[in-house]
Amino acid sequence: MLYFDNNATTPLAPEVREAMLPFLGTEAGNPSSAHLAGRAARRAMVTAREQVALLLGASPEAVVFTSGGTESINTAVRGALAAQPKKRHVVTSTIEHSATKVLCEHLEREGYEVTWLKVGSNGLPSAVEFAASLREDTALATLLWANNETGVIFPIEEMAHCAHERRVVFHVDAVQAAGKIPVSLAHVPIHLLSISAHKFHGPLGAGALFVRAGLGLPPLLYGGAQENGRRAGTENVPGIVGMGRAAELALAAIIHEMPRVAALRDKLETEVRRLVPAVRFHGDPQHRLPNTTNFALPGLEARALLVVLDRLGVACSIGSACSSDSPDASHVLRAMGIPEDEAKSSLRFSLSRMNHADEIPAVIQSLAKALQRLNLQPST
Ligand code: PLP
Repeated sequence: MLYFDNNATTPLAPEVREAMLPFLGTEAGNPSSAHLAGRAARRAMVTAREQVALLLGASPEAVVFTSGGTESINTAVRGALAAQPKKRHVVTSTIEHSATKVLCEHLEREGYEVTWLKVGSNGLPSAVEFAASLREDTALATLLWANNETGVIFPIEEMAHCAHERRVVFHVDAVQAAGKIPVSLAHVPIHLLSISAHKFHGPLGAGALFVRAGLGLPPLLYGGAQENGRRAGTENVPGIVGMGRAAELALAAIIHEMPRVAALRDKLETEVRRLVPAVRFHGDPQHRLPNTTNFALPGLEARALLVVLDRLGVACSIGSACSSDSPDASHVLRAMGIPEDEAKSSLRFSLSRMNHADEIPAVIQSLAKALQRLNLQPST
């Protein structure tokens, strides 16, 4: 299979699988148990916490293990609001992942006021508009570091400094950024940050929330005292161990592999343009993840194209995996002012360090074949 859907999920790295295996078998202790197996699980979690902290440029004590990006985001947002009951205003953007979007829509139904920051046609929000949106009663600003559909990278550092000056809790959804671009929390005043292991060749169902020291954040899940009382429930030890190893590999790959991935993505774009001169690429080309491209093939129905590509062994997507069943055009592309028909003719290809140069001509060949099979000629 030609796998180009890495923003949906990434294949498990073999080294990660190897690190996890003992904890799926012989060393399957509960980290809260006093016996040998429990102690081994606890030790493995200490290592994993250090590995995840290194990826984020954070201290290990600030890392809370969760079941993934969605849980981390819900914990951050619900926790920040519960800690400041008098403040009823939240700032977010119009192009968040559904984990934030749907949560904020719920908050509106619960009586919170939500400011939805607009983005330009390049997919970027304005830092000036962000500053203007912050108020005395703003409990929280929650924004993407990088968008999952277009790969566009927000000016997060500037926004974090602004939120910090205005004493507004700042949560960042770094699910797509972590492991692809440097994320260093040592010098950026971000209070809360969410990541997910399966986006950087770790296992599904494992994530982390960074919680800056001193921030009193009530848990989302109550029960046992795991994670220092910050997240109840027996820990997913194999998942956590896998995330730790994946974080270690991802940190090295940012320098050693991502430039190669970016070059592959650029080559893919060049070849797509050669095949379909009318192609329109979405998102600011200067501020985007090294692995993502999203483009419209005007006049074509992306959903139909996706089915044919799948039959030809190519995995890509029409946007977020979470909304792939929806007949609606992508809310991200629509928010960028892209007309509905163009949004519906758009495809996302997302690469990873597991992609290789010889896959680019192969995927272009499949795309050409798919266009032929559909008997569709892209408009020029
Ligand atoms: N945030 C972003 C930007 C994502 O891309 C995703 C997953 O696609 C999530 C949050 C949710 O993460 P998870 O799948 O770990 O719940």
